[in-house]
Parts: sequence; structure tokens; C-alpha cells
Amino acid sequence: MNVRTRYAPSPTGTPHLANMRVALFDWLLARRNGGAFILRIEDTDQNRLVEGAVDEQIEALTWLGLDWDEGPDKGGPFTPYVQSQRLNLYQDAAQRLLTEDKAYPCFCTAERLDQLRARQTAAKQAPGYDRLCRWLTPADRQQRIAAGEPYVVRFAVPLEGETGFADVIRGEVVVQNSTLDDFVILKSDGYPTYHLASVVDDHHMQISHVIRGEEWIPSAPRHQLLHQALGIGPPFFVHLPLILGPDRRKLGKRHGAAGVLEYRQGGYLPEALINFIALLGWSLDDRTEVIDRSTMLETFTLERLSPNPGIFDPDKLRWMNGEWIRRLDEDDLAQRILPYLVRELPETADEADPVLVRRIVPLIQTRMEVLTDAYPLTAFFFTQEILVTADDLLGKRFRDEPAAAVMALDTAAKALAGLAAWTHTEIEGLMRALTEELGLKPRDFFGLVRMAVTGAAVSPPLFESLEILGREKTLERLARARMVLE
Ligand code: GLU
Repeated sequence: MNVRTRYAPSPTGTPHLANMRVALFDWLLARRNGGAFILRIEDTDQNRLVEGAVDEQIEALTWLGLDWDEGPDKGGPFTPYVQSQRLNLYQDAAQRLLTEDKAYPCFCTAERLDQLRARQTAAKQAPGYDRLCRWLTPADRQQRIAAGEPYVVRFAVPLEGETGFADVIRGEVVVQNSTLDDFVILKSDGYPTYHLASVVDDHHMQISHVIRGEEWIPSAPRHQLLHQALGIGPPFFVHLPLILGPDRRKLGKRHGAAGVLEYRQGGYLPEALINFIALLGWSLDDRTEVIDRSTMLETFTLERLSPNPGIFDPDKLRWMNGEWIRRLDEDDLAQRILPYLVRELPETADEADPVLVRRIVPLIQTRMEVLTDAYPLTAFFFTQEILVTADDLLGKRFRDEPAAAVMALDTAAKALAGLAAWTHTEIEGLMRALTEELGLKPRDFFGLVRMAVTGAAVSPPLFESLEILGREKTLERLARARMVLE
């Protein structure tokens, strides 16, 4: 079977995790089966278009490495891949349905439809079109169209019977036709609705599997009716389960869910995000958490998609990102950190020199969860001056004994100045010897030096940091700290 999948975003907002989950499964299914993955822009709701939204979709897909074979920027056998440029196809289909009496023009005004809805709501009835125009005579219709009355085209849903479709995840789903109203397929401006455009395009573009969120299940019977009326075979439907917050409510900002590109901004790796969203509905074996793309490509099957909601847990995503950071090789991590450092470093700081960043990486790789952690951990390597107060330096240990702190700083400075080789092993040996000499606990002595040199109580390993920072800067900072204490 020729697998062809499509990711069909409406450019009405920024791409979210749920969108990318659809794209990921489309991509996996297509790649695993030697098929094609198609990007199609569904911009038929012209009132809701958001500028830049298509670019954001493209950027998010590209960042996540979900490459497509056909699309607006790539072309392909069914070009164009933007629905607003394919209006004649939808109009032809609507015309065919009109001619065959499977659809009809509806002249009802917005006011009438508003009143109808208000009446239905007041009477606690399900809202829906009452089919007034369905019963107009052909002559009436002709006359009103000729008079230039605006109209939409509605699909004439069979009044009886039922409509079913097979969902790959859920099996057979059946609805009574009496619960469906005569939905609009073509608007008065000649644009199709989503239902018509999606069905026509999926057929025309030879889509084999329609993967999308569960929120589209209510639309699927309508699509099925359109398939039947147009005499075209339905694709396989795959409705992915909802993504919920940890409180099992609809996922939203309050759960810490952000747009996909915000995750990039926040220092998440595409590898981690892909891994995380894959597990919101799919599993390898119910156990394995960290899964790379090639494993997914080797093992992905629709059978392992679950009908149960995926639970979005931001802490798990952070953890997973840390796992992925640890899996990167050091050169790679250095390159990925660099732009974040450049972004965060103040103008007064030294430039984020790639060679220096590369040397720092081994000190911080296990201490990071997101790439943005690099800056607070390493800022002291780049900033000219460390701002510490006497309170910071003295802490609890030296609060009542400032002279001991001064003495410790002096001793350290003097000994470090005379150290033969500036390597972390030499530095460590010396510092441990001094600890004894000073009669201090290592934690207190090293803590003081750490605060003086890095400006923080926690930092990457101290001796390695001093080695990289260099003798000159280390001594400068020790001297400065001593001044602060005086
Ligand atoms: N344009 C729809 C959306 O933005 C696509 C739904 C579908 O895949 O059929 O979600």
C-alpha cells in the first residue's frame, strides 16, 4: 500500500505540542513505510488567518526535523498545497453535489440563523440548521439565485439511517444521521468549509491515512457522508487521544504548556521534544522512556497508539531534556549552548568564545536540564567582575570570624600565585593541603573561594573551573573579595 499522510495546519495561531504530535506520527508512518509526508495549508477560514503562522509551522517542523516531501514550498504532483489556491476544485465538487441533489443552496440570513439558534437554546434543543431551504422548489432556487441573493451550499444529510466510519484506534464509530444537521460545504464567498476542502483534498492528494486529534471525531461522519456522496473511498482515520494536563483537564497554559517554538527558546532539544510528544499516545513497550528517532522509525506502528489521553507533565519533559543533554557528545552540546549564552550574556561580558565554551561543557553537562541552564552555571567565566557582598562571602561559617576568612583568602591567593602548573589536579592538591594548614573544613574553605571566584554558592566543580578561568582572573577575584571584606 502506498502510504501518504498529510499534516494540514490552519494558519490561525502558533503550533502547539498537539499539532506537532500529529505531524510526528504522520511523518513516522510515512517514513517507516517508504511513503510520502505532505504539508498542506488549510487557510479557508480567511477571517481567522494569523500573519506569520505558516512560517511558524514550517519553522517548528524544520526544528523538529520532520521533513516533508510535498508542500507549498516544495511543490509536488498535486500542487498547489494551499487551499485558498485550490478553490475551483471545491467549487466543482459542490457543483456536482448540487446537480445530483445531494446538496442545496441555502439563502437563510445570519439573522435568521441567530434567531433559530436562540430559539433552540431556549427550548434546550441541540442547535442546528432546520433545513428550511432544503424544501424550496427548483424554480424558487433558480429565481433567487438569478436575483443575486447570496447563498451558501449545504449538504443534504440523509434524514434516516446511520453513518459509520472505522477508526484505526477506536474501531467502528457509528452515529445516527438524525443527529447531524445539513452542514455548510461552500460559503457565500465561494470558499469551502473545512469539511469539504479536507475531503476533496485528501482524495485528490491520494492521502491514505488521516491522522488528527480526537476533537475531529464529530466531523468524521460528515466526511464519510461526503465520501459516499462523491463516490470516493475513505482514507484510514486515526484520531489521536486528547492531551490533558496532570489534573486531567484540557491542556492549557496553566499547565505550563507552551507553543513549540517557545520550547526551543526555553532551551529544550528537538530530540527531547520529539521523544516526549511521541509518548503522548504511542509507546514502544510500556516501559522505555528515552527513545531516539531511529528507534521510533524502526518500531512505529499504528497498533501501538492508545485511545487513552496522553498526560502532559512539564517536569517529565524537563527531566527528559536533561537525559537528552547527557546523551549529546561534548562538541555537539557546546555548539547548542553557544547561542543561548550569546543571548544571555550582558554586553559588558567577554564574548562567548566557542573554544572556551567547549572546555566548560564537561563541567556542566550533568548539571543541566535545559540549555538555558548554561548561562547561570557559567556566567562567571565570561563576566568581567563578580559582584559579591561581605555577607555572601562570610555566610554562616565566617559571620563571627571575618578575620579567618580574610586569612583564608590571603593564604589561597599567595599559594595559588606560586603554583607551578595551573592544572586542576595541582590546584586541588594545593587547596587540600591549605585546608589542613588553615584548620578549616574543606567545605567551608572551598565554599569561600567558590563564592569569591564564581559569585555563587553552587557552581561547576571548583578546581576544574579555576583551571579554565585561569590564574590571572582567579587571583584578581580573590583580591577583590578580600577588599570587600575589609
Ligand atoms: N486544519 C485542521 C487543523 O488545523 C486539520 C484537521 C484535519 O487534519 O483534518 O487541525
